Amino acid sequence: MSALAKPLSTPPSPAPQSEWNVEAVRVDFPILSTRVYNRPLIYFDNAATTQKPLVVVDAISNYYLYGNANIHRGVHYLSEKATDAFETVRHQVQTFIGARSANEIVFVRGATEGLNLLAATLGRTRVKSGDEILISIMEHHSNIVPWQLLCEQTGARLVVIPMHANGELDQAAFEKLLTPRTRILALTHVSNSIGSINPVKHMIQLAHRQNTVVILDAAQSVAHMPIDVQDLDCDFMVLSGHKLYGPTGIGMLYGKGSLLDSLPPYQSGGDMISSVRIEKSTFHKAPQKFEAGTPHIAGVLGLGAALDYLTRLGMAAIATYENSLLAYATQVLTGIPHLRIIGQAREKSGIISFTIDDVHPHDIGTILDRSGIAIRAGHHCTMPLWESLGIVATARVSLGLYNTPGEIDHLAETLNGVRKVMGL
Ligand code: PLP
Repeated sequence: MSALAKPLSTPPSPAPQSEWNVEAVRVDFPILSTRVYNRPLIYFDNAATTQKPLVVVDAISNYYLYGNANIHRGVHYLSEKATDAFETVRHQVQTFIGARSANEIVFVRGATEGLNLLAATLGRTRVKSGDEILISIMEHHSNIVPWQLLCEQTGARLVVIPMHANGELDQAAFEKLLTPRTRILALTHVSNSIGSINPVKHMIQLAHRQNTVVILDAAQSVAHMPIDVQDLDCDFMVLSGHKLYGPTGIGMLYGKGSLLDSLPPYQSGGDMISSVRIEKSTFHKAPQKFEAGTPHIAGVLGLGAALDYLTRLGMAAIATYENSLLAYATQVLTGIPHLRIIGQAREKSGIISFTIDDVHPHDIGTILDRSGIAIRAGHHCTMPLWESLGIVATARVSLGLYNTPGEIDHLAETLNGVRKVMGL
């Protein structure tokens, strides 16, 4: 441990190697042995996107090299193989999140598209003037703007759950804001900016008492903890493949079967129809109803490899290891003079936002970058959250399953020198 990471009391010890062999895990990610600015890469921008294990890249390239064909429509060998592989991943997603049926899984481009699909289709069927849509102040822009647009179109009202200063949602305010007018509650499971884990199971129970449809944004939770949609009882959930060690451009929308079936199509075209006549078309049931056009087949296969990979490692083991890293990083960073961690919820995932007195977060990011450390600086697509806290921007460290205590030591050492570099 670096001397510069002082002053520190005894840091909590990270998970023993016997429980989590991080070095073995790191070998699966070739990018982690590359260098930037001639320094070993330290990747702490996992909330933006995660790195990809070799098995994911292999699944994508094997498809293009040896299995490329369009799915669902072909009568030839390759098409049938590709269709089988594609539909197998739907079953994998079902198992991974504990859905009742694979038909409850819709492939979309990402969490953003999942939320837009829901705003468009729920908007057409369930929301009218005078209704309310409830979100929280810590939502990602992709779980704010689609609802704003829907409110403009329908005359519904966007209502926002506030947050306590420690980064926990104000539950008393939530209970007051939840009324028979609340048609939709769209809530993030884990804040991408400050890492708070929201008590979603309880909030869903309360929302259901008002017949409110609940959408969970699990973009930041699903790669870091076990998730069971039946246990949570959310009505819909959106997920992002690229934050799950899978490819970009692929995401998942989960919806309870009867609800998905009750929604109208989102995009239309080939593959989602059962018949087309010039007068009128009829549509497949979910999930095909929502998958117009040729999907991102390679992306789905890469996602399947990522889910296999995570399942082999075990989501509970991943959560335990990342929690130990978070505790260690929090303690180490807390010991750095002038550094302030924003968001200290009692339940947190591995995301730490912070500021350093008199230093712009972008300067923090640049100084770390030159040491080979990738973090994020800015508003992290949660501008209303920062406005509510009177903060313009933060630096953000987000942890993944391949990060190590040694990397955190190196981060702390570099952060300790930031004010000096800035001449303060
Ligand atoms: N929701 C949250 C909480 C996020 O952190 C993000 C991305 O950062 C998104 C939604 C958007 O995800 P995607 O990139 O899959 O559209």
